[in-house]
Amino acid sequence: MAATIFDKILRREIPADIVFEDEQVLGFRDIAPQAPVHVLFIPKTPIATLDDATPAQAELLGRLLLAAAGWARAQGFAADGYRVVVNCNRDGGQTVYHLHLHLLAGRALGWPPG
Ligand code: AMP
Repeated sequence: MAATIFDKILRREIPADIVFEDEQVLGFRDIAPQAPVHVLFIPKTPIATLDDATPAQAELLGRLLLAAAGWARAQGFAADGYRVVVNCNRDGGQTVYHLHLHLLAGRALGWPPG
């Protein structure tokens, strides 16, 4: 898998506003937020897209989701609500090919997405 800007964030080669870290997951604020709260959660083990994830990575995928949910709860906005998005490949709008969850919160979010 080709290195991405998220690898540089993982290696602390470029700055990021990191809000969450455990052994397997890093969470940092999106540089171009689409909501008052917009955090990206990435696996430290790179996976290019959701389409590349394998059954052997099921636990890691679960950890990503639980990291986002736990952080939202700890920040106090889980009860009001939030959205978790994974963009996959071109038509999904993916621009960085290192799997990531977008956690969006802090305003009522429209549906359907554009
Ligand atoms: P996606 O379009 O789903 O691949 O999302 C990639 C996200 O990464 C976009 O929302 C970008 O704003 C965000 N992004 C790109 N570069 C950085 C960076 N250096 N730090 C934080 N977020 C970034």
